Amino acid sequence: MPINVEIHLIEVDKQNEMKIAGEEIRKGETKKIDVNIAKLPSGTSIDIPVMVHRSKNPGPSLLLLAGMHGDEINGVEIVRRIIREKLYRVNAGTVICIPIMNIYGFINFSRDVPDGKDINRSFPGSKTGSLASQVAFFLMHEIIPHIDYGIDFHTGGARINNSPQVRVKTEDPENLELAKAFGTKFIINSPFRDKSLRKEAFRQGKRIIVYEGGESLRLRKNAIDEGIAGMLRVMHHLKMRDEAPMIEKEPTLIMKSSWVRAKSAGLHYGFQRNGSAVEQKEVLGRVCDPYGTYEVQIKSPLTGHIIAINNNPVVNRGDALFHVGS
Ligand SMILES: [Zn+2]
Repeated sequence: MPINVEIHLIEVDKQNEMKIAGEEIRKGETKKIDVNIAKLPSGTSIDIPVMVHRSKNPGPSLLLLAGMHGDEINGVEIVRRIIREKLYRVNAGTVICIPIMNIYGFINFSRDVPDGKDINRSFPGSKTGSLASQVAFFLMHEIIPHIDYGIDFHTGGARINNSPQVRVKTEDPENLELAKAFGTKFIINSPFRDKSLRKEAFRQGKRIIVYEGGESLRLRKNAIDEGIAGMLRVMHHLKMRDEAPMIEKEPTLIMKSSWVRAKSAGLHYGFQRNGSAVEQKEVLGRVCDPYGTYEVQIKSPLTGHIIAINNNPVVNRGDALFHVGS
């Protein structure tokens, strides 16, 4: 009998143990851990700061991750506000906040790491692979084993402004439930991409939803506010906190979407507001040449909603202008 008791105690201890980069975080503790990931060519250390709060009460573990793409700043501001306003100090469970995953991209105003690789196409990563692959490896080995759920905060890239939306594989009921709990304007059915964090984490039984709001290198208040409100609703849904903002309008589920592209090069004017409902063949905008020779109308291929708009005023033929979903 005594032997059994001992084994049981050891198992309980293991469950309670949480270490990130060799540093232990005990129940009831809040810690900031600077994880050294690499060095700049100058010899300057590159650390990824990770903020962890472990409640004394048992509950799920939630990752709040931003800046995987270094130029997508709305997410960085969302996680900063969560830390600043102490919203991560939950009543139950654990919250891990990483405001900037891609330090290299952040200081270079770039989506990728310096070798041009995208971290979110480099999972599960490798300790000896490319820089992007090493950052992915760190996340998979030091963070993902400690979590049950995650929210990965992104924005549109290259002047594409995404209306606040959550991307999930809707076939998975648990993913869909999280997206509904987040409660932002649109839920986009988004199959897993190879080598993405979402897919690799799912293989380990972890559910990560992706929030997209606004555009790269621009802070947008509505996208930031929506991201914070959605995060609080997910925490409430997971019984980690008592209160959360009400959902103003049930999210619209988008199962099918397509990009409307420029049929000619020139100046692009958009006529519609991001997120608005449109009819099939409704005029969305206009592309014209700078010399007054032609004006081409851009029409919606389907009845649905505008879920993203290209804010670039100068476009080439084939450029994506409006993302329309139904
Ligand atoms: Zn992104």
